[in-house]
Amino acid sequence: MRAIRATAAGGPEVLSLDDLPVPTPGPGEVLVDVAAAGVNFIDAYRRSGVYPVDYPHVVGFEGSGRVAALGDDVVGLAVGDRVAWSNAAGSYAERVLVAADEAVPVPDGVDDDVAAALLLQGLTAHYLATSTFPVEVGQDVLVHAGAGGVGLLLTQLAVARGARVITTVGSAQKEELSRAAGAADVIRYTELDDLTTELPARVRDLTGGAGVHTVFDGVGRSTFDASLASLRPRGGLALFGAASGPVPPVDPQRLNAAGSLYLTRPTLGHYVATRAELVRRADDLWDAVRAGTLDVRIGATFALADAADAHRALEGRATTGKVLLHP
Ligand code: NDP
Repeated sequence: MRAIRATAAGGPEVLSLDDLPVPTPGPGEVLVDVAAAGVNFIDAYRRSGVYPVDYPHVVGFEGSGRVAALGDDVVGLAVGDRVAWSNAAGSYAERVLVAADEAVPVPDGVDDDVAAALLLQGLTAHYLATSTFPVEVGQDVLVHAGAGGVGLLLTQLAVARGARVITTVGSAQKEELSRAAGAADVIRYTELDDLTTELPARVRDLTGGAGVHTVFDGVGRSTFDASLASLRPRGGLALFGAASGPVPPVDPQRLNAAGSLYLTRPTLGHYVATRAELVRRADDLWDAVRAGTLDVRIGATFALADAADAHRALEGRATTGKVLLHP
C-alpha cells in the first residue's frame, strides 16, 4: 500500500511516498480502507520534530473510511462499517490500523470527507466551547485564526451557545468566511502595527472597555500576550495550539496582575478520555451536521502523493477550514 513517511525531522521535503506492507490488525484493532485523511498542525509538529517521534514516521492521525478486517476481540464493529478517527498513527496511507476504541461510527447523512474533516478539529472545538471554558449566553469570546479549521467550527459552536464572538484573521477572504460562520466582529491582526497593544485595545473598544470572558488561542507565540491583555477580570485563556510557535515560559504573577485570570493548555486526549466521552462528543457533532446547524468547510483537498504541498499550504497560512488528503 502507498503511505507518506517523514524520513527525518525537517520541512515538508522530508515527506516521501513509499510502498509499505498492508498491516494486520492485532487484538482490539481494525484495518480500515482510508477514504480521506485529515491534515492537522500536529502532523507538521511531528514531521518537523517539534513533537518527538521516531523516523521514518508514517504521518497522520485522522481520517475516515471503511472497516476492511477485524482483529481478535473486536466487538461492535463489522467489515464494511463506515468509521472515522482522530487518533490512529499512520493515517496518511491507503490503509491504517485503528484501535476499535478509537473508531467512531459515521452515520448516514455524513459523507466520508465531512467525517474526516470534522473529527479532530470538531472534537477540539467541542471540548473547548463546552468543557474547558463552557461558553454561556451573552458572553464575549475571542477566537484567534477564525477562518481556520478549528476556528470556523469553534465560532459556530460558541455562537450557537449564545455568545458574541470576535475573531482574528489574516486576510479579507478569511474575514468573509469568519463572518459567515457567525463572528460579530473580525479583526485583521496581520494589519496591526503592534499586535500586542493594538489587538487588546480593539477588543476593549468592542466590549465597552471590559474585555472578553474567554480567549481561545491556537496561534500561540504571536498572540499570547495580546490574548491575556484582552480578558476581563477572572476571564479564561485556553491556549490550545502553537501555529505561530510555542509560547515561552510564563510567570504566574502575570495572571494575578491582569485580573485573577485563568490559563490552561488543554489537549484533546484528556477530553475524550473514555470511549463514552469520545462517542458523546462525536454524536453531538454528527447531529449538528445532519441538522444543518454546523457547516464543515473543506478548504482544500490534495492527492496523497502531494502531502508535502498540503503541509506547505497549512503552515504557510494559505488554507481555510479543513485540509484533506485522498489516497
Ligand atoms: P488552522 O486551519 O487554524 O491553521 C492555522 C492558522 O493559524 C492559519 O491559517 C493562520 O490563520 C493562523 N496563524 C497565525 N500565525 C501563524 C503562523 N505564524 N504560521 C501559521 N499559521 C498561523 O489550523 P487547525 O485548525 O488545524 O489548528 C489550529 C490550532 O489548533 C493549531 O495550533 C493546532 O495545533 C491546534 N490544535 C490543538 C488541539 C488541542 O487539543 N490542543 C487539537 C487540534 C488542533 P490566519 O492567516 O487567519 O492568521
